[in-house]
Amino acid sequence: MNELNSNRPAKHFASDNYAGICPEAWAAMELANHDHVPGYGDDVWTAKAADLIRDLFEVECEVFFVFNGTAANSLALSAMCQSYQSILCHHLAHVETDECGAPEFFSNGSKILLLPGEEGRIQRSSVEMAVEKRSDLHYPKPKILSITQATELGTVYSVAQLQELTETAKRLGLRIHMDGARFANAVASLGVHPKEITWELGVEVLCFGGTKNGMGVGEAVVFFDLELAKDFAYRCKQSGQLASKMRFLAAPWVGLLEHEVWLSNARHANDCASRLAQQLRTIPGVKFMSDRQVNSVFLELPTAVIHEMRSRGWRFYTFIGEHGARFMCSWDTTDADINSLVQDLREAFQIAKV
Ligand SMILES: *Cc1c(COP(=O)(O)O)cnc(C)c1O
Repeated sequence: MNELNSNRPAKHFASDNYAGICPEAWAAMELANHDHVPGYGDDVWTAKAADLIRDLFEVECEVFFVFNGTAANSLALSAMCQSYQSILCHHLAHVETDECGAPEFFSNGSKILLLPGEEGRIQRSSVEMAVEKRSDLHYPKPKILSITQATELGTVYSVAQLQELTETAKRLGLRIHMDGARFANAVASLGVHPKEITWELGVEVLCFGGTKNGMGVGEAVVFFDLELAKDFAYRCKQSGQLASKMRFLAAPWVGLLEHEVWLSNARHANDCASRLAQQLRTIPGVKFMSDRQVNSVFLELPTAVIHEMRSRGWRFYTFIGEHGARFMCSWDTTDADINSLVQDLREAFQIAKV
């Protein structure tokens, strides 16, 4: 413990999953840690968390709590198509690049078809091309458009951009899945009501991220199309995603959803990234890669600077997207953390003489 804690720097900008559990989620877990309650989701915490999600979206929907985003995405996708059908997504989408083939595995082989697109966003024209180029039975029949909101490159789809995409998808007979590992950050950035970027536009299933927002473990799979949710519990069970002490996956959602903590956590992380970007602009030589809209900043860093930063103990990813260095803020990032990162980057640029 002490050894871990003594490593400087105290915090990292590698991912929002480096952060711990936020106080509200933690407090809810503690409250749930009393008495005996039935297992497998037949408890008051699970009912309450699902109700709060229904309240949030202002619609009747089916909600399932699973352990992580890979399971949420791949099980949701498998419930939305047949094995001979295909899933369209951006070529940098998490379902393609970071889930070890789980969507294909759980859907019994549904093929993922990759689409291009600037700044992590899919364009309408590439959806049309992918669907319309073939209609014969030798081609894996497109059935799902998977949209990541916020995107893997820290951008968001505006309401208008989503509208264009979802209208196109509907016209072409596609179902719409949304990977919302950072849905909260997208809502905070756009300043919209959650329903405006989901079911009102025809999104059938949303994977709503809890972990990166401040929980220890867990994502919610939200079915706006109730028919698709039929038997989903069996998929969860078969894949090892049905928690027997479900209340501990559900309770932190209650902590996040009450008093809009999910939104203030996301706003905080987004604002931190905005301040980080602002300060980075004062360092000569820093190049920004994509437009920052949520809680990450992507930089093009010279190799010498990357080495210097790593030797100072900083951890960050350079494999996301197009080889940029990603710096990501979370619910617990402080101004002091930002200052210390910026200070080291400034010095790293001086030492590397670039
Ligand atoms: C983090 C993340 C996920 C979930 O990943 P897990 O590690 O499986 O929880 C899903 N989609 C995106 C875009 C992510 O960034």
